[in-house]
Amino acid sequence: MPRAPLGQHFLQNPSILDRIARQVPESDLVIEIGAGPGTLTRRLLARARAVLAIEIDPRLAATLKRKPGDDLRLEVLRADVLDLDLGALIAARTAGRAVVAGNLPYYITSPILGRIFDAAERISESVLLMQKEVAARVCAAPGSRDFGYLSVLCQAHSRPELLFTVPPGAFRPAPKVTSALVRFLIEPCLERWGVGDRRAFLAFAQLCFHHKRKTLLNNLEGRFGRKRLAGLPEAQMRAEQLAPEHLAALWLRLAQGGAQGDAAG
Ligand code: SAM
Repeated sequence: MPRAPLGQHFLQNPSILDRIARQVPESDLVIEIGAGPGTLTRRLLARARAVLAIEIDPRLAATLKRKPGDDLRLEVLRADVLDLDLGALIAARTAGRAVVAGNLPYYITSPILGRIFDAAERISESVLLMQKEVAARVCAAPGSRDFGYLSVLCQAHSRPELLFTVPPGAFRPAPKVTSALVRFLIEPCLERWGVGDRRAFLAFAQLCFHHKRKTLLNNLEGRFGRKRLAGLPEAQMRAEQLAPEHLAALWLRLAQGGAQGDAAG
């Protein structure tokens, strides 16, 4: 019996499974997140020298585990993906960069994306199935209704592209939502924008979107002080109006002055 709290909606449609697998580039190592019963896993084995399949459910992980005569290129890790250091797992298996793929457990899509970007230096590309509405937020352009912190997180580490949608009927049991496959071409955007302290920038971006409808002045005054912010051209704008590189430029300007919240203002 599939376990709903673990997001167990299994892909049953062979042509959709084939279509997803074809989007995964050939590589040395594919890390599959949420391998489930292994229908996608088998297809990924045809595209990689080795596959590391991560699955939290012990019952499913046991059926995935190698039996004598099975493909030695498959390694199964029974674990919560959020407890893992993906960068370290990749470094232990290849000198190059890995591809991350999977039909994600939708209830933890954002934290999984966070883990993937934590390991961005060891990953070339990710191809992930997620809820269509989340895919829209991931790929959203500044100024659009869907643009928010998740868009900045994804676009600060990659070039995300929505490839195609998948209807609920392709899964058993069928989810209530439509799904979408997204490709993330990993890119060193932060480096290009001159951001050295990645975590500090992401914390800043999160604060900018704290109250999405409020101005940057209102969201940031507790941290940087009203007086200092009031002089900025962006002060009366909302974070959703600024492209990720513009937010990065703003962060660099504010960080250079120190984040002491010169709260005199
Ligand atoms: N790959 C299979 C497929 O395409 O049919 C299963 C995909 S299903 C949407 C998501 C899978 O992720 C389930 O097998 C579930 O048990 C697993 N999962 C849920 N939470 C997880 C976690 N925290 N870490 C690793 N796997 C998890």
